[in-house]
Amino acid sequence: MNLSTINPLKDKDINDIKPFNTFLDDFNSMLKNVFNNTDYIEQLNNKRGIPPLMLEEIMKANPSSVGIPLEYGGRGGYLHENLAVLAAASYESLALSLTLGINSALFLQPVSKYAQKDIKSSVFNRFLNENALGGLMITEPDHGSDALNMNTSFVKKDGHFHLQGTKHWAGLTGFANYWILTARQQNTDGKLLRDIDFFICDVSKPDQKIIVEEEFDNLGLYMIPYGRNHIDVRLPELNRMQPQTSGVKMMLDLLHRSRLHFPGMGLGFIKRMLDEAIAHCQNRNVGGQSLFNYDQVQQRLSRHQSAFTVCSALCDAGSDITAANDDLTTHNIEANVIKSVTADLMQETSQSLLQLMGAKAYRLSNVAGKASVDSRPFQIFEGSNDILYTQISQAILKLMKHTKEFNLYEFFKSYSLTSQAIDHLKDLFNFEVNVHTPQRKLVELGTVISRVIAMDYVINLGDKGFRDDMISNALTMLKHEITSMLSTYSYDNTIKVVADYNENASWLSFR
Ligand SMILES: Cc1cc2nc3c(=O)[nH]c(=O)nc-3n(C[C@H](O)[C@H](O)[C@H](O)COP(=O)(O)OP(=O)(O)OC[C@H]3O[C@@H](n4cnc5c(N)ncnc54)[C@H](O)[C@@H]3O)c2cc1C
Repeated sequence: MNLSTINPLKDKDINDIKPFNTFLDDFNSMLKNVFNNTDYIEQLNNKRGIPPLMLEEIMKANPSSVGIPLEYGGRGGYLHENLAVLAAASYESLALSLTLGINSALFLQPVSKYAQKDIKSSVFNRFLNENALGGLMITEPDHGSDALNMNTSFVKKDGHFHLQGTKHWAGLTGFANYWILTARQQNTDGKLLRDIDFFICDVSKPDQKIIVEEEFDNLGLYMIPYGRNHIDVRLPELNRMQPQTSGVKMMLDLLHRSRLHFPGMGLGFIKRMLDEAIAHCQNRNVGGQSLFNYDQVQQRLSRHQSAFTVCSALCDAGSDITAANDDLTTHNIEANVIKSVTADLMQETSQSLLQLMGAKAYRLSNVAGKASVDSRPFQIFEGSNDILYTQISQAILKLMKHTKEFNLYEFFKSYSLTSQAIDHLKDLFNFEVNVHTPQRKLVELGTVISRVIAMDYVINLGDKGFRDDMISNALTMLKHEITSMLSTYSYDNTIKVVADYNENASWLSFR
């Protein structure tokens, strides 16, 4: 597909906008320059944050434009463009890619869809012309996974909204110029309403400053500052974002769209892990032969490569979903599968590279050790994978109840997200699923279902012309994984931890 031909340039003259291929080539050459600049690399290795001159050079290539609508001078907010920019960045630095992902998926795109018309041009202008960055604050110290019960409150007073609360772990803490803040309305007797509201906060304005109470010593992603924020801001009415129905639905739409950006961050990262692994194994001799020739090493490398193919298929699937749907509120299964599978593949490939590189990888300056620490939180933020896998199972079981079809093979055959993959898996799924199943089994089933859906996406990518040998390898890898996950799922295990376990639990006392 020629990316330069698919932008529907309705509101702008086509000559105003660089063809996407040229934009991406320029972005890539800028990245090669800045990540080969030894001064910057030296600073990145030794310090937290990003060297200001390096950030300035990166922002000159205008990565924010892919998150901004055409009529405000951006490139239109197309997912495939966002994914390509994120992948280019994550090949060099996962932290940079996450920074750009936060900026576009968690700030610019929600503003483009839900902010009031009169605030948009001033905000977008600062991103296009002054290198502004934005982020999103949802998480609170007592409310992470159960964000809907957040305590940050707001009241409407004298023509503005007064927000108060504590938020932590928001990417770009103390660094972003703009935030989307989330809060619940407090009624006259002090109780918080159930719905969530979203507000734009411009920290350059006097009443909108956010105090960073503590800077966190985050384990990885050194380029991105995290911390605990004290919120006590007064925002004009214009800054309140406008949901189409409810704030909770707006949050679902926003988070589902954001989860579809994960494979962009994953793709460049996994490609880097693959390239590093192949180069290392070809060059390293162990026991008189190249590491590359050992069978177990080939198994690892081919899994890396299959992860690259699967992640490519997830990018493609997400792009199809957003091209066909403006509202992603109900696309929970697709978004949760795409996010959780990407995060698992990122963590697996970095751990595997670390293993292949041996002791050399166990240095802070080595790409593999850092990659494994940097990619780990992708399994935690924007929906912990354990919770997302549970939700995937629950959603599928609900559909099964609705269709009264409890045989997984029969169900998958007629379900749009699995109907192609099931041809490869018939012998594995010809059994009835128990709908009253403990949570641990829901998580296991969710991981299985997500790999079946990923398999369907890989088949689609193959049908579009992606190279056959890599598609076939990825399908074999997924079938292998599904087979072993199913054997875990079918093994009944309800053991519970013995919390008070010190008595009679010392081997030494028996000697
Ligand atoms: C690097 C990083 C970047 C982040 N970026 C942002 C950001 O930009 N903006 C923002 O608002 N937040 C951000 N977060 C916060 C992140 O979204 C939360 O950490 C996440 O939602 C989990 O919340 P928590 O840490 O309070 O963990 P908890 O809610 O305490 O959950 C911890 C673990 O408990 C288990 N668990 C929880 N609930 C259940 C359940 N119902 N069933 C089974 N198991 C369960 C899961 O294993 C889960 O991982 C970031 C976090 C990190 C680490």
